[in-house]
Amino acid sequence: MGRRRKKYKKVVRRRRRIPTVFQCPACGSRNLTIKFERGSYSGEEVGGTPKKVAVIRCGNCGLCYRMVVPSIYEAVDVYNKFVDLYMENKMEQLEPCTSSDKSGEEVVESE
Ligand SMILES: [Zn+2]
Repeated sequence: MGRRRKKYKKVVRRRRRIPTVFQCPACGSRNLTIKFERGSYSGEEVGGTPKKVAVIRCGNCGLCYRMVVPSIYEAVDVYNKFVDLYMENKMEQLEPCTSSDKSGEEVVESE
């Protein structure tokens, strides 16, 4: 007695979670967040490829860059590209964030 035979398979639902916090290449802490600005990119569209602007920000060391990426990019894609650029010292290709204080409101610059 006492031998329970419960044979049922646990259905593990694997929800594909896309990580949004990454390790910062500058300071090494896991405080790097990548967010997307919507409708803020008004540059040229090459071949009609939709683009979007990713904002890469480190909550620890204050690193913050904006990067124009294809709209199909996910945060992890942006991160990979960002790290590549960082390792190759090509950060000047990226646009540094102008204001670090406001996180909710994005300043729309007009020429
Ligand atoms: Zn950092």
